[in-house]
Amino acid sequence: MRKFYTTEGNTSSKKQKEAYPILALCEKCVTEYIVISEGDRTYDECAKCGASD
Ligand SMILES: [Zn+2]
Repeated sequence: MRKFYTTEGNTSSKKQKEAYPILALCEKCVTEYIVISEGDRTYDECAKCGASD
């Protein structure tokens, strides 16, 4: 099970999507990101490692 996380991306970007991208991440990969806020759980695969179990 993954969760949606609003993460800190390219903060110099004026585009909200690039500055604070919302990613589906597994528990392992989320530790590599700066998390702004946590969202709902999802069955989407992890945006980083592709885990989908
Ligand atoms: Zn992952």
